Amino acid sequence: MSRIEPSYEVVVVGARAAGAATAYLLARHGLRVLLVDRGRYGTDTLSTHALMRGGVLQLTRWGLLDEIIAAGTPAVRRTTFRYADDLVPITLKESHGVEALYAPRRTILDPILVDAAAAAGADVRFGIALTGVARDRHGTVTGITGRARDGETVRVAARIVVGADGIRSTVAEAVDAPYERVGRSVAAVTYGYWTGLETDGYEWNFRPDAASGVVPTNAGQACVFASASPRRIGRGGLGPLTRIVAETPGDLTTRLAAAGPPAALRTFTGRPGYMRRAWGNGWALVGDAGYYKDPLGAHGLTDALRDAELLARGIVAVLRDGAGERDALSGYQAIRDALSTALFDVTDVIAGHRWTDAEIPGLLLQLNTSMADELETLAALPPLPALLHVPC
Ligand SMILES: Cc1cc2nc3c(=O)[nH]c(=O)nc-3n(C[C@H](O)[C@H](O)[C@H](O)COP(=O)(O)OP(=O)(O)OC[C@H]3O[C@@H](n4cnc5c(N)ncnc54)[C@H](O)[C@@H]3O)c2cc1C
Repeated sequence: MSRIEPSYEVVVVGARAAGAATAYLLARHGLRVLLVDRGRYGTDTLSTHALMRGGVLQLTRWGLLDEIIAAGTPAVRRTTFRYADDLVPITLKESHGVEALYAPRRTILDPILVDAAAAAGADVRFGIALTGVARDRHGTVTGITGRARDGETVRVAARIVVGADGIRSTVAEAVDAPYERVGRSVAAVTYGYWTGLETDGYEWNFRPDAASGVVPTNAGQACVFASASPRRIGRGGLGPLTRIVAETPGDLTTRLAAAGPPAALRTFTGRPGYMRRAWGNGWALVGDAGYYKDPLGAHGLTDALRDAELLARGIVAVLRDGAGERDALSGYQAIRDALSTALFDVTDVIAGHRWTDAEIPGLLLQLNTSMADELETLAALPPLPALLHVPC
């Protein structure tokens, strides 16, 4: 069986940070948008979820931060770095309206973005897995082919298809988006949620081949992670995590012992970072589909929210303002790359876990400098239009 859906101006594949945010912004500009995902609404995913300033700025600018706070996400006003001999506490100062950081669980962040997309007028369908893209005789992408849960084939025509379908992006494979930069490092991470852990903010602890951290989140829980070479993490779990935490500086081991441990831990075995070409005729990539770096830099979500807006602005310029597709989408990629390349490279070095105690503070400083550039660029973007569609 095969069914043909009405056509859309944009189909976005992947309904989490990058895709739901892109669909929200496009719908907010009055475009006809379909957002599809093969998964289920509101589910968790393999990811810790510390937002950096740029991510919080985006949620604030889009009018969604209040919902994150209302969901009980604690404000993070302090970040503490620990190296071999140093403890560096940093109290967050207000900048561009960002007074605190937040680390909402993905079961909170992603549905808020999906709901915002729907409220702005996007059609949202879960349970549709993209299987391929349709092309015209010139090779321009003209829509998608997918499979619904009932096995039915779904075809949707679209002027532009956006791949926001994560690190194993089917869209990126279908359009054969070339890799333009590939990292050399692979780190693994294992993490879980402790209840009642004593902490006063984000914590990042670094020793060679042993990094750990704390990310306070919803429901009185704190996400605790350990990152190291895949050989050290192995299949992950409490054993590797507590061994690595014990090697990192600070008293986290003692505090973990006094807190409620997780029922289960999750483990990511790692993969090298990459930057793929982000656009072509009739298609674009956003979020991890086009640009992925190791989670130890805690920047994937912030970049996904950043690039959702950069891409949405490019697509609006094409479909509403008559800009050339090549100019607008290559412009999107140019800004993405300008803001990302230094961050990508330093994250790759940090994820390599081959630095010394003396080198890691300088590497983290480089990471911080890249984030500052990103923040300035986002803060300088013109305001978005008011929500056009009011749901009944
Ligand atoms: C262990 C770990 C820890 C992390 N910690 C942090 C952190 O602390 N801070 C941070 O900022 N970032 C972190 N990241 C990175 C962050 O998780 C990603 O950058 C972010 O999830 C990217 O969002 P996305 O929307 O691009 O993709 P995803 O969140 O991967 O969403 C992709 C969506 O596409 C859907 N999809 C996939 N294929 C198809 C298909 N064929 N058809 C339809 N739908 C499809 C999936 O179901 C999924 O819902 C971490 C990542 C990992 C792995």
